[in-house]
Amino acid sequence: MLTPLLVPLLTDQALITIVVVIAVILVVGTTGLVVARRRRAELPGATKPPIEAAEPQVGDDAEEPRDTPTRTLEDAELPEAPAATLETPESAQGRLVRLRARLARSQGSLGKGLLALLSRDKLDEETWEDIETTLITADVGVGPTQELVEKLRTRMRVEGVGAAQAREILREELVALVDPSMDRTLNVTRKETQPAVVLVVGVNGTGKTTTVGKLARVLVAEDKHVVLGAADTFRAAAADQLQTWGERVGVRTVRGPEGGDPASIAFDSVKEGIAEEADVVLVDTAGRLHTKTGLMDELGKVKRVIEKSAEVDEVLLVIDATTGQNGLTQARVFAEVIDVTGLVLTKLDGTAKGGIVIAVQRELGVPVKLVGLGEGADDLAPFDPEQFVDALLD
Ligand code: GDP
Repeated sequence: MLTPLLVPLLTDQALITIVVVIAVILVVGTTGLVVARRRRAELPGATKPPIEAAEPQVGDDAEEPRDTPTRTLEDAELPEAPAATLETPESAQGRLVRLRARLARSQGSLGKGLLALLSRDKLDEETWEDIETTLITADVGVGPTQELVEKLRTRMRVEGVGAAQAREILREELVALVDPSMDRTLNVTRKETQPAVVLVVGVNGTGKTTTVGKLARVLVAEDKHVVLGAADTFRAAAADQLQTWGERVGVRTVRGPEGGDPASIAFDSVKEGIAEEADVVLVDTAGRLHTKTGLMDELGKVKRVIEKSAEVDEVLLVIDATTGQNGLTQARVFAEVIDVTGLVLTKLDGTAKGGIVIAVQRELGVPVKLVGLGEGADDLAPFDPEQFVDALLD
């Protein structure tokens, strides 16, 4: 109101000064808001929304990814930061102690059955046949079963019979069969400028997404910065499921539209991992066993596209322990189409056929690195041959 009255009274110089002051106030105010917004995005515990990967276009060739506009934290719409209610995952050490009892419960009949047979006063042909049957029934596989029986026969003959000897000999031979010399370390160490990349593959329903979620917790418990890639775009709800796992421990999920191109999402998640300077990017994939060629094309493409920006350090194949020979056949197909570096055996709590550990390692020449022992969030443990065998014989 006063301004029109005052204007004629002001000199040109005074007017210029007022305009400059108003301009400075406006610029400072806007910059302050932007900085505050960025700071909020960087706050630990601030809820970070999933990044939608750009929808792949028809004719898009993920072999030569477009410079996909992965959105950065500054661009993402940021909701008000909620009070952080993040869970604290259990450490890997604690898990082994707790889950060993569960393993003993499910696999006890195999170990105890064998022990009872071997402790008999007289080890006749019928007893050896029963031992063989027990091993085959527990999915140990024909080759490893014959090998073990041969060794046990010789040692029991030479070292004498009796419950105590039988237990010791059986323990030693089972540990040897599970092979403690295999390297079971998970390659999840960040390189100088790149996160470690872990690709998780396997048939749908084996527990792949659950395993990725559980594994994220294992890594968070080790103070690692994790990014999840929801590249299983074929199973409805797989991305939601993964995102929920991530949110529970403050881990961000990169996802795309349902039915979108898995390779594009895998690429975006690794790009995001690099931008966030993450330690590990875990990529969940679709496990449609339509045809071997289809699977090979799909997984091969996902891997090649990731390798445009980072090395794939680990390819984990998830196998459902309750599916026995069928699971083994499926595992063989996956191993033929992609170089598997480690196995995850899920649902060992739901079967007495723990012999699959031996059979699948033998079949694929790849170590079991993790075992799933329940539906609980922390029911995934690193695999340890001695602990496993001890649990069988508990
Ligand atoms: P995906 O299709 O391979 O991604 O399978 P999901 O991760 O959705 O898992 C399928 C089902 O298996 C879910 O109900 C999981 O809770 C269950 N599951 C996964 N791992 C385990 C495990 O170690 N033990 C048990 N009992 N269930 C499991």
